[in-house]
Amino acid sequence: MESLITMLIALVLITAAVVPYLRRVRGEEKRARKHFEDAKIAGLQPAVSMHPHINATECIGCGGCVDACPEEDVLGIIDGKAVLVHGSRCVGHGLCADACPVGAIVMMMAAPGRSAELPLLNEHFETNVRNLFIVGELGGMGLIKNAITQGRTVVEYIASRPLSSGGVYDVVVVGAGPAGLAAGLSAKASKLKYLLLEQGDAGGTILQYPRRKIVMTSPVELPLWGKLKLTETSKESLLELWQQVLTKTQLRVNTNEKVMDIRVEGDNFVVTTLLREYASRHVVLALGRRGTPRKLGVPGEELGKVTYRLIDAETYRDCDVLVVGGGDSAVEAAVGLALHGTNRVTLSYRKSEFTRLKDRNARNLQEFRRRNAINVLLNSNVKGITERDVRIETAEGIRALPNDYVFIFAGGEMPFEFLKKTGIKFQDQVVA
Ligand SMILES: Cc1cc2nc3c(=O)[nH]c(=O)nc-3n(C[C@H](O)[C@H](O)[C@H](O)COP(=O)(O)OP(=O)(O)OC[C@H]3O[C@@H](n4cnc5c(N)ncnc54)[C@H](O)[C@@H]3O)c2cc1C
Repeated sequence: MESLITMLIALVLITAAVVPYLRRVRGEEKRARKHFEDAKIAGLQPAVSMHPHINATECIGCGGCVDACPEEDVLGIIDGKAVLVHGSRCVGHGLCADACPVGAIVMMMAAPGRSAELPLLNEHFETNVRNLFIVGELGGMGLIKNAITQGRTVVEYIASRPLSSGGVYDVVVVGAGPAGLAAGLSAKASKLKYLLLEQGDAGGTILQYPRRKIVMTSPVELPLWGKLKLTETSKESLLELWQQVLTKTQLRVNTNEKVMDIRVEGDNFVVTTLLREYASRHVVLALGRRGTPRKLGVPGEELGKVTYRLIDAETYRDCDVLVVGGGDSAVEAAVGLALHGTNRVTLSYRKSEFTRLKDRNARNLQEFRRRNAINVLLNSNVKGITERDVRIETAEGIRALPNDYVFIFAGGEMPFEFLKKTGIKFQDQVVA
């Protein structure tokens, strides 16, 4: 009798511990599944940079990777296995791989079945084209700290080589994200004749982060500044810090000067920008991997509320948003923003119909239009953007719509075509 009572008590205690645990696990799985489906619909499930590959056979579903990831909802446990839920939010911290107790995670650039198109680089980040270097995310390594370290060390190496004479630059750095800024600072510190060219504003991909995004990084040495003692900060504070660095060091950045072409002429490169040509002995490409979006060229496009990619649809709630474009990215963004039903979403496309959509996107768009969840304006052209509204030309005349955010998906170029044109060789990282 006594042992029966002991067993019953043990059973009650175990049930009291296990049932809430199972309930929590089931709740988390349900949430992960919902996020996974939403991310797929919004086109935000695939990763764009370094991200984890999970070997499902080895994964034991312990959730250590999910807990270790500092970004929100990148990973989840579905059917007892870790899954990349919201790949576009992954920035390649790699903490998930460190936390996995069975080594089931490796960090990769490519999505399964795709090629990562990584440029061939030697140990000094030099490409097969002599004196032409690639640093930062373009070379296959994500994260701010890595970009800064590579930008700094590549120019230290260049400074140890024979330099230029006459009107030729020692080094032209292309791109003013963390890698390019560090390369520029390193060139200034080494007293090289340098030029830093940026197609937009200085700051790189950080400028595109969602508002108040928490940035996780590690302390890193910045030439002419010293140690950047950051571990956790916000997008806004980091950009403010960059501004202080630029002011204190007087680093020259030619902003709004896009590089269009690089060719070899004798011992030097000729770098052609939208404005002019420069001769340089060395070139450092710090272009990132996110490409150059095509702009509309309308007044107000420079406002902070205008972006060319949607990273996190869920951060936009109860907003008036305009999505511009007629391709899959535009439709996925519009659907993603309309998904939770609190935003007022308008999709503006200059043509009379959507002709090149994936079936799934065409079906989603039809369904969201039927529910009046997306207001579609065909044959329309954006004419101007202000802090409060957008002006759109339609067949009925110019319409002014209240607006908080504009997302433009008018195409653009990826950096790889540019590199291939320059003669840079690639190694394909294909993941089965
Ligand atoms: C949403 C998000 C959150 C992130 N969070 C973190 C984080 O918390 N911690 C972390 O360490 N990392 C984070 N990252 C990753 C980090 O931002 C990148 O790894 C880093 O910015 C890469 O630096 P980069 O200098 O190589 O390239 P980028 O920062 O991409 O800079 C490239 C620059 O080159 C310019 N450029 C491109 N083509 C040309 C051209 N033809 N002519 C002139 N200029 C050109 C671009 O305009 C851009 O300014 C995050 C990334 C994203 C998208």
